[in-house]
Amino acid sequence: APLILWFRRDLRLADNPMLAEAAATGRPLIPLFILDPETEALGAAPKWRLGLGVEAFARALEGLGSRLVLRRGPALAVLEALVAETGAAGVHWSRLWEPDWRARDEGVKAGLRQAGIEAASHAGHTIFEPREVETGQGGFYRVYTPFWKAVKDRPVAASSPPPARLLSPAEWPVSERLACWDLGRAMHRGAAVVAPHLAVGEAAAAERLTRFLSGPLDRYAAERDRPDAPVTSRLSENLTYGEISARSLWHAGMRARAEGRAGAEKFLQELAWREFGWHLLYHTPEIARRNWRGDWDAFPWRGDNPDAERWRRGMTGEPFVDAAMRELFVTGTMHNRARLIAGSYLTKHLLTDWRVGQAWFEDCLIDWDPASNALGWQWVAGSGPDASPYFRIFNPATQAEKFDPESAYRQRFLAEIARRPGPEALAFFEAVPRSWGLRPDRCYPRPVVGLAEGRERALAAYGRRNN
Ligand code: FAD
Repeated sequence: APLILWFRRDLRLADNPMLAEAAATGRPLIPLFILDPETEALGAAPKWRLGLGVEAFARALEGLGSRLVLRRGPALAVLEALVAETGAAGVHWSRLWEPDWRARDEGVKAGLRQAGIEAASHAGHTIFEPREVETGQGGFYRVYTPFWKAVKDRPVAASSPPPARLLSPAEWPVSERLACWDLGRAMHRGAAVVAPHLAVGEAAAAERLTRFLSGPLDRYAAERDRPDAPVTSRLSENLTYGEISARSLWHAGMRARAEGRAGAEKFLQELAWREFGWHLLYHTPEIARRNWRGDWDAFPWRGDNPDAERWRRGMTGEPFVDAAMRELFVTGTMHNRARLIAGSYLTKHLLTDWRVGQAWFEDCLIDWDPASNALGWQWVAGSGPDASPYFRIFNPATQAEKFDPESAYRQRFLAEIARRPGPEALAFFEAVPRSWGLRPDRCYPRPVVGLAEGRERALAAYGRRNN
């Protein structure tokens, strides 16, 4: 009897523990992707990008003589129907811990087992299983540094190579067509603009890693904060959909560290931030939606508001912030330093609830990751575990002097202030909805709020919260 492999965010052949274990059973395998309500609920950009990943993965499977079966519907119903059709002996998948996905998976596991069907989940999305990292007292970590110390020297199993061949079932079950799902429908005009910035699929992810290791890694420690001359790996896009394993990046980082390469330690530390995010989300799922520290519930955040709308549109009149928001629109990602500045500006200068920013990133980021996004937003807002204190308010102008000293980043994305607007600055106007009425030949807007005024207002609100 065949096994059903339910792929979700592990769209890779190499170093995929679920796939390696299933292939080793010698059974025929039915790879499956389900468009379930949880996947339908994804934001516009991540859903579109996921569809491209699924397409690439289906081709990779075909290269091994296999296929990817596509079905739509609630996961348990789809799986039960497919088991009945194919006589499959069991269903396997890789574990995830986003609260809704986890609830879905627990329901699927219970439902299948109740029906007498084997249901097994595997590690693979992270380097360290969130529940396996424990403090000396047996609890979980709330602060990054001790978490890093706890994981940095842990033995990590070797990566597994891709299977040479996958055994097919005697008859392939019917598959739906990816094109008919139209996963990119909410990307409107954006898709064509963002597409050239993507690296879709396992082979493209591996190339990205090779390129990063071939040089940028050596400048990583010194320059990872510079959005004007980016040296980072850009692998978050691929990690999100599992097109490369975090474990293989860890091993690459460890090898580089053993060779004494500058940047290797820092790279490992950043991978550990991703791990820390999943660790926290596993242990405190509420971090995805609620202030991690309850005393922040009393903070006078503004809900969605017209200033926040200007922030979303890259029209605050604060150049570093607007460049960041336009980078997001044009490339589908944003440099980490820019995420910090744009996030700080929204939550502090504009006094807006971090969840307004979180929701926008969730809709626009092709590397949207529920754990890193929630942790990142709670960190900039000051409401999270191990967060930057609220009163440390980034000044976007001085940040720009420091991290974009020649204005290359701002010029790259802001047509209105560029000496000669380049293709990316102009592409922004092609990507945004027409209804916004934005044009590159208009005047750059005056600031929504003065930097000093915004800072004072934020500090005053913070003071009131403490009284
Ligand atoms: P590199 O510098 O090459 O780092 C390698 C990998 O380490 C990354 O791919 C990523 O997996 C991990 N990493 C690096 N920095 C961080 C970090 N600060 N936190 C967690 N993991 C990190 N990252 C996402 O992947 N998805 C998100 O939705 C997301 N939302 C964020 C929201 C805010 C407000 C902030 C401040 C940060 C957010 N981050 C998010 C973290 C970080 O900005 C990105 O991971 C990073 O910019 C990705 O670029 P890279 O792949 O070139 O990273």
